[in-house]
Amino acid sequence: MESSNVNIECDNILTWFEDVSKNASSVQTQILCKILKQNNEVEYLKKWFGSYNVQDMDACALESLFTSVVPLASHADFDPFIQRIALSLSSGTTEGRQKFVAFTRHSAQTTLQIFTLAAATRSKIYPTKEGGRILEFIYSSNQYKTKGGLTVGTATTHYYASEEFKIKQEKTKLFNCSPYQVISSGDYKQTTYCHLLLGLFFSNEVEFISSAFVYGIVQAFCTLEELWREICNDIRYGTLSSKIKLPKMREGVLSIISSNSNPFLASKLEATCKELELVDWFGLVPKLWPNAKYIYSIMTGSMLPYLKKVRHYAKGVPLVSGDYGSTESWIGVNVDPILPPENVTFAVVPTFSYFEFIPLYRHKQDFSFVHDDFMEDKPIPLSKVQIGQEYEIVLTTFTGLYRYRLGDVVEVTGFHNGTPKLNFICRRKLILTINVDKNTEKDLQIVVEKGSQVLNKAKTELVDFTSYANMSNSNQPGFYVIFWEIKGEAEDKVLEACCTEIDAAFVDHGYVVSRKTNSIGPLKLCIVEKGTFKKILDHFVANGGALGQFKTPRCTNNPMLLEILNACTIKTFCSNAYDSTQP
Ligand code: AMP
Repeated sequence: MESSNVNIECDNILTWFEDVSKNASSVQTQILCKILKQNNEVEYLKKWFGSYNVQDMDACALESLFTSVVPLASHADFDPFIQRIALSLSSGTTEGRQKFVAFTRHSAQTTLQIFTLAAATRSKIYPTKEGGRILEFIYSSNQYKTKGGLTVGTATTHYYASEEFKIKQEKTKLFNCSPYQVISSGDYKQTTYCHLLLGLFFSNEVEFISSAFVYGIVQAFCTLEELWREICNDIRYGTLSSKIKLPKMREGVLSIISSNSNPFLASKLEATCKELELVDWFGLVPKLWPNAKYIYSIMTGSMLPYLKKVRHYAKGVPLVSGDYGSTESWIGVNVDPILPPENVTFAVVPTFSYFEFIPLYRHKQDFSFVHDDFMEDKPIPLSKVQIGQEYEIVLTTFTGLYRYRLGDVVEVTGFHNGTPKLNFICRRKLILTINVDKNTEKDLQIVVEKGSQVLNKAKTELVDFTSYANMSNSNQPGFYVIFWEIKGEAEDKVLEACCTEIDAAFVDHGYVVSRKTNSIGPLKLCIVEKGTFKKILDHFVANGGALGQFKTPRCTNNPMLLEILNACTIKTFCSNAYDSTQP
């Protein structure tokens, strides 16, 4: 039965989005005016606005003044100011270090707004049942107080603790399987166990499965593959494993299951898990959650490598890719939930922040030593972007960032009314570069995918990967190192072929020429032992990160991570891709 309430709410937010997207350009001018008038007195702006009387200016004049006097900036420009105020941590896994960014009531409200909008858009295509449940693999990190008494934590941590998180459940009439005590524990292993336990306990009511980034779902299902017997046991007797030590979490879970022991459900689940084990857990989702309509999570960008695994678990249950945002600001909503994650675009929500776009042009066969892969033009407003062009996003937010370079590269693929639809391309920063070679995360993804096709032929699977540009020995040419964790046994000659395939698959002209002239040495493929990437996750979490925000760094020169990777390397292969090439 569809809820009429849900539909009223849905219609409201959809109508609102149609309105603001039709008038995106003027909405943007008004939003900037609002931000600047609200924050007129702040130290950072005063520096640039000097004697201008911002309060009395009209919105259009203010927009042109702003973009002419306030410079483009990066996080480093704001850091000294941010250190003095309320803080929230970005995941830092894409940048390599955590940044402090302000999180306010407004941030929680925009989060509620985009989640409600996305839910309304999805429910048109995949209607869900009123009062049903969401199996949501979400995690808060630990929060702490600054000297000034302000709370620090990840953006998701703040959101799950906010009123808005409760309102979202009421508004969408879908409720989490896990109570807040589970989400907020700060211990991701214990939380994962309880999410799975309650997800299975409510298995017939689950309408969809979700996580912030799809890595969260993959890692939870890997845990299920290991611990299903123990989980079923808890369902049978209404007990809770001794693995769960946190008193509040025990209390929260036991209050749901202890008076509802369910031997019938436990036996059914056990029989299903036994069958699934025989087929390498193919179709786990529809078998265990027969009413799940879809899987909803961010599957684009650095999450693309996990798609194959999720599809294996989903066996045809639709994958709906989540929306696009950052700790700094939400950006766009997936308005075509029916599209596969590979083709998903995000319609910019013009009320969230003031957006500018730096046009980017790729260097063609450039041999300069500039450590950047793009040439750039002057930033333009949202209303001026063009289809087919790539841009870096610049944000001016309600939380004190002015003309802040986000570092993400997007391509405009079309428009939803007057607002652009963006395809996420990659993080701007080059990740693999030794001299004239320039490779982005996307380039690395493509070559690793090619290598893993060789692996798949040998019935072995790539679990996760990262890379490193080794320049440690100044007497020898630098070279790329790729670390692979694999599932299954592959012969050495297969892995050697994978290594050569990866090396040969880099198309960047700088790399190809450098390899031919041996100014970059042969690529090395290091196979790491099972569980290595879990250790990296543990390291991230131990340093205050939240699982929900974790993105495996696709390239690292972090000494701690390299120490883990090197210590866990069990085999090393060297490419012979360019062996026969004459300089
Ligand atoms: P965080 O630093 O944890 O706030 O992560 C924000 C970053 O995650 C963004 O700047 C993007 O690089 C990436 N990201 C967020 N949403 C998406 C998405 N839907 N698709 C691809 N990448 C995304």
